[in-house]
Formats: sequence, C-alpha cells, structure tokens
Amino acid sequence: MNEYDSGKMADLLRACEGMEPTEYPEEADVILFNTCSIREKAEEKVFSDLGRVRPLKLTNPDLLIGVGGCVASQEGAAILKRAPYVDVIFGPQTLHRLPQLLQARRDTGRPQVDISFPEIEKFDHLPIPQTTSGTAYVSIMEGCSKYCTFCVVPYTRGEEVSRPLVDVMRDVQVLLAQGVKEVMLLGQNVNAYRGASDDGDTVDFAFMLQALAGLDGLSRLRFTTSHPKDMTQRLIDVYATTPKLVSHLHLPVQSGSDRILAAMKRGHTVLEYKSIIRRVRAARPDICITSDFIVGFPGETEQDFEATMKLIDEIGFDNSFSYLYSPRPGTPAAELRDDTLHEVKAARLQRLQDRIAKQEDGVAQAMLGTSQRALVEGVSKKDTRELAARTDNNRVVNFSGAANLIGEFVDINITQVVRHTLRGELVAK
Ligand code: SAM
Repeated sequence: MNEYDSGKMADLLRACEGMEPTEYPEEADVILFNTCSIREKAEEKVFSDLGRVRPLKLTNPDLLIGVGGCVASQEGAAILKRAPYVDVIFGPQTLHRLPQLLQARRDTGRPQVDISFPEIEKFDHLPIPQTTSGTAYVSIMEGCSKYCTFCVVPYTRGEEVSRPLVDVMRDVQVLLAQGVKEVMLLGQNVNAYRGASDDGDTVDFAFMLQALAGLDGLSRLRFTTSHPKDMTQRLIDVYATTPKLVSHLHLPVQSGSDRILAAMKRGHTVLEYKSIIRRVRAARPDICITSDFIVGFPGETEQDFEATMKLIDEIGFDNSFSYLYSPRPGTPAAELRDDTLHEVKAARLQRLQDRIAKQEDGVAQAMLGTSQRALVEGVSKKDTRELAARTDNNRVVNFSGAANLIGEFVDINITQVVRHTLRGELVAK
C-alpha cells in the first residue's frame, strides 16, 4: 500500500511540478518520507532519516522536506517539535493535496500540515495511472473499520471507504491499454469492499473480481490484504469459477488461540478460520495460503503460543509475515498488562519463524520438476544477468532469458530450490 502511495506521490509531482525522481538526495528539490507506524521500529526510523537529510538544507536553502503516511497522520504537527525544519506534513488520505501544500509552504514560508480524512476524494485528483511493467497495483478501498485492539490503522488511515466500481474498472482498463497483464488489488481489507455500482447498487468484492476477470487482456488477478471476517462463501466460490484469480490467498490469522483472538477483537475463532481454509481448498485445491502472525500479544501464555504452532501445523502455510507485538499509542491493547519477558517472546517468534520456514521449503520442494506459468517482472535481484518471474502461487523464479520477455508470461520448469528461492529453465513462450 505504501509503495502504491509513494508511486502516486511521484506521479503527482511529475504531473504538477515537472519533477523526476532522483537517487541522489543532494540533487533533490523535494524530499518526502512516506512513513509507516504499524510497529514502533518503523516509526522511530523517520526521525533518524529526517536528521540525515537536514544538513542538505544548508547547501540548498530551497529544499523542501515532507513527511507523509501514517506517522504523519498519527503525530501531525507534533513532528515539528522534534524536527522544526520539516516543511509539509500530510496523511495517506491527503497525499493528492501535495502540490498545493508545497506551494502554500513556498508562498507563506510556514510549514503546512494536512492530515484530514476527506473520504475518497484523493482518487479523483490523482493523475491517470501509468506503468511500463506487466503488473500494476490498483487501490480499491482505503482504511479499516475492524478496530483490532493492537492495530493503529483505523486511526491513521481512517475507516473503510470503497471506490466506486466504475472508477476501479476504468483504472484497470487504462492499465491494460498500456500492456499490463496482471493487476494487484490493494486495500487494508479488500474483501470488505462495498462499492457503488453504476445503477446505484452496492457491489461486493466477489462481484468486482468477476467483473474484472471479464476484461479482455487481463490475465491474472491478485489481491492483498484480506480479513477472515469478510471471507464470504461468495468470495470463496470465485476461486472455483475464476481461473484468472491466482492460487494464492494471504489471510492473516494473527494467533491460533481463541483467547488471544478474542482479546485482539478479531471477530472469529480458530475453528472458523480453519473452516474458511477448508472451503477455499475445496474450491481451489492447489492454493498457497500465507498469513500474518503476532507473537507476544499481552497475556499470551505458553499454551496460547502452542495453539498457534498447532494451527500452523494443521494449515501448512507458505511464506508468512510474523512480528513481535508492538504497543501502538491510542490502541486498546496498549493499556493491557504485559508480563511476558522480551526474551521469551523473541524465542517464541524464532520457533514460529523456523516452523514456517520449513513449510515454505516444503512448498518450494513440491514445485521442483513442475512447469509453472509465470509473469516476468524484470531483472533478477540476485543476479543481474538473469530474469525474475512470479508464479501463480506468488513464488519468484530466477531464470536465463532475453530482456524482451519482461512483461510477458512464460512457462518455466522449476529445476532448483536454493534457500526458498526457485531457479528454473524456460520451456516456451
Ligand atoms: N487487515 C489485515 C488483518 O488485520 O487481517 C492486516 C493488515 S495490517 C496493516 C498488517 C499486519 O501488521 C497485521 O496483520 C499484523 O500482523 C501486523 N500488525 C499490526 N499491528 C501490529 C502491532 N501493534 N504489533 C505487531 N504487529 C502488528
């Protein structure tokens, strides 16, 4: 989501100010930090990054420094207390006002702060999406109304607001005309999507997926991220009927203990989560399931943690994200008593990550010798003489091939697994 927002900031400044991104901070007229406040570590980084670029104002007095994203939304003008040299502060829902904020800063000489939540207005003010790659992000909804007790998102990004269906369809059609073949639908909980249709009805995420799958030229659909509470049977059925929807579902569970799920206010039980996965697998047997886990939530006992490990064994997850719980200001869980030692939590996290890594390796080993359809995304990060492609189940495969394959689908024989990374050989275009 932040990558998408950063791309939009670059598009806006290109369209309104004729600016181009540079890799060299000393060349820049504007330096923006797009921030994340989901955990404490990410938040602290902003101030050290700001301190690093501050001296550039001595050599370039016209340099403007901005802070956007969720730390900006959470801290607002308080950022100026710690970093008074910051020029603009804007939230995830006001990034479209960036050109006006920069201009107001130039005109008045005073720092500008706008961290309001003007509903979904931002999408009406963003330039037409543009890409040169075979895959593109499209944001379909913003914010979150779940209010999980650990999470800061509803306070920094606001409540769930969906874009109208026609707007999303138009963005996707514009991208398809530019040669895009795969679209990744984005939102904090995409499966909570409830958008207005042309005839004034409200349509759900299952409807949107089917409408998009009907577009010629679109070969593959992905989405992230989703919430178990919104995993309706209608949506599960789309896996059975719509081959363009990839065989990958990222469905965060956070914990395998009902006691902890209730304390997190997740709104579902472990049994309900398992029932969703069973039904998704019935609809799409080869699907890869990934999740997010929080380890060390206040009051998590050894027994609760073992329940999470049991769930991991039962489901068999592919590569997942896992984190130590981080208290976030203003969230209910931040008030809870937390007696567990950090060392105990860190050891639990390590055990969980080792178990997931084993399962991840199992998925990779099972792909050995198979032929996979993959979209070539670009040059491999590991070896610039190779290309990297993404399979339906979200695995990156490195292989030798000509640069003109970038943006195309290829069939690749999986020949090697090197520490979770796949290598393969091109079969045919
Ligand atoms: N909306 C999705 C859901 O809740 O199912 C997940 C989106 S959330 C922005 C991304 C992930 O960050 C969460 O799934 C959770 O694992 C992690 N996260 C959020 N708040 C956290 C906290 N206070 N401490 C540690 N991890 C956290």
